[in-house]
Amino acid sequence: MREIFAAYNSVPVREAAWLKRQIKQGGADMRVKVTLRCNECKQRNYNTFKNKKNTPDRLEMSKYCPFCRKHTTHSETK
Ligand SMILES: [Zn+2]
Repeated sequence: MREIFAAYNSVPVREAAWLKRQIKQGGADMRVKVTLRCNECKQRNYNTFKNKKNTPDRLEMSKYCPFCRKHTTHSETK
């Protein structure tokens, strides 16, 4: 259980720091806030930013879902 909790908390924070750096390099104009939703249980697990210029299509990535307790495909949702 502690493992799940750690994954749930640490991954988005680390990504947020990484994204902040990316945004600084690329300029703030094209960044949009997106929510990443688990395709299997439909839970919204992550809030993040994407660069519309670099990723014009729907964002999809493999992320740890604490509800499915495994990595699943997460898709962008508003
Ligand atoms: Zn899930």
